Amino acid sequence: MSINKPLTTGEWSKKVIRQEEIDKYLIDGKDFINETEIWDHINHNVLPDKSKIQAILEKSLSIQRLEPEETAALLNVKDDALWEEMYDVALKVKQKVYDNRIVFFAPLYCSNLCVNSCAYCGFRKENKNEKRRVLSMDEIRKETKAVIGEGHKRMIAVYGEHPSSDIDYITASIQAIYSVNEKSPNGNKDSNIRRVNVNAAPMSVDDLKKLEKAGIGTYQVFQETYHKPTYAKVHPAGPKANYRWRLYALHRAMEAGIDDLAIGALFGLYDWRFEVMGLLYHAIDLERQFKIGPHTISFPRLTPAAGSWLSTHSKYFVNDEDFKKLVTVLRLSVPYTGLIITAREHPEIKKEVIKVGCTQTDASTRIGIGGYTDAMKRLSLQQEFGQVKREQQFMLGDTRRLDEVIRELTEMGMITSFCTAGYRCGRTGDKIMGLLKNCVEGKFCKLNAVLTFKEYLDDYASEETRKAGNELIEKELSEIREMPFFKETKLLENFEKYYQKVMGGERDVYI
Ligand code: SAM
Ligand code: SF4
Repeated sequence: MSINKPLTTGEWSKKVIRQEEIDKYLIDGKDFINETEIWDHINHNVLPDKSKIQAILEKSLSIQRLEPEETAALLNVKDDALWEEMYDVALKVKQKVYDNRIVFFAPLYCSNLCVNSCAYCGFRKENKNEKRRVLSMDEIRKETKAVIGEGHKRMIAVYGEHPSSDIDYITASIQAIYSVNEKSPNGNKDSNIRRVNVNAAPMSVDDLKKLEKAGIGTYQVFQETYHKPTYAKVHPAGPKANYRWRLYALHRAMEAGIDDLAIGALFGLYDWRFEVMGLLYHAIDLERQFKIGPHTISFPRLTPAAGSWLSTHSKYFVNDEDFKKLVTVLRLSVPYTGLIITAREHPEIKKEVIKVGCTQTDASTRIGIGGYTDAMKRLSLQQEFGQVKREQQFMLGDTRRLDEVIRELTEMGMITSFCTAGYRCGRTGDKIMGLLKNCVEGKFCKLNAVLTFKEYLDDYASEETRKAGNELIEKELSEIREMPFFKETKLLENFEKYYQKVMGGERDVYI
């Protein structure tokens, strides 16, 4: 860790940004976001007729990525009945690729020092009210313990951009997270975080190679807005002011050997239809240059943040109805890509968008620095598992604990998964994309979801959740036993063996 002599913002930007690692991905000196072209697509596909939309829906159902003009047509649908049809097809697409499962993770905010000035974020350097902290490795282990105690197996580590949380700090913190083993509340099983994803500022290829070596799962960077004038306005200073350095962050990651990547846009900074198109163009360019699209897409909505005027006054806020539409269009446009809905959203809207095809979510979330340890302390004093405004990046809409969220989803017929097998069996990058496109990965997932759900129910669930979960597992088991795909391969036989092992108390078995 280099906490000795902090660099100034200017020195840090100079050290971080390498122009040659931007230029090499440009085509004829241009990047892949062309504002005029995007608006042309949106403006030329107004009032698309029903048969055209239905043909596009057929294409999505055959698990093919849409072209920009097709996505633009979907964005322009005005007929409510047609939207209802689109919601139904979106769910069908999700079920075809990912089955009825939902993957859970927990974010871990490691530091809130930041050299940037993002107008929407509580961590930006001008926010003098923010209590700044970089967790020590000991504190990271404590936070990890608390997260494991909730029953989580996947974590996303989140960092501000600052010399005190540079690549050496990030890799050390990943190792610290992986090093923790903790007994489950019923006292008989050890558990740990099996996959650490990272959300951190764009880096050079050299630093990304270190990240890859540290055993990262997914690397996530949100472009925030694809609209260049807006981007410039909301990122007035610091390295983040460089639009293209960020736009090619994931291209560099591919080059460094990290092929499991996550893109996203912060909805509420600019027109939501433009951002959906931007995300699609981003996915297309990654496919074009590396033959692998993003593994997931995130679509956080701007949420009130302490000391951020913009976060409560933007003229581009997305209402709930449009939010559901944008998630639907993303589901239909990139059928094989995971969609993440976070605890920024309130429970009711989360439920709505899960129904149109989200694949991952978080729960028990605490985004204050040291937030899990603090929440546990409050719980032991029989106080609330609440939020602390001055130490958070923004305020959450859903502060429910994992057990409660899992119970709700179980009652909706959705199976919880903590599966981390894909990454550890080498099912990432082009391999996982191929499996997803052919709807095979979803089948592995179904089996691994059952195995990890059973682990959770036995080790962590409340009585009520365990009862509901076990009933759902019984239903899943009868489905699995009837599916020709499993019977024809040796998968069913192996699965039955593994399931018995989990029932007998063995942990972390996967297909
Ligand atoms: N500093 C890194 C970066 O900017 O890439 C790490 C991430 S930041 C802590 C995580 C994400 O939170 C940002 O990319 C942004 O999209 C989102 N975010 C920031 N302020 C927000 C707000 N007020 N409401 C909702 N999401 C916000
Ligand atoms: Fe810093 Fe990231 Fe917040 Fe911007 S969004 S101020 S870069 S932590």
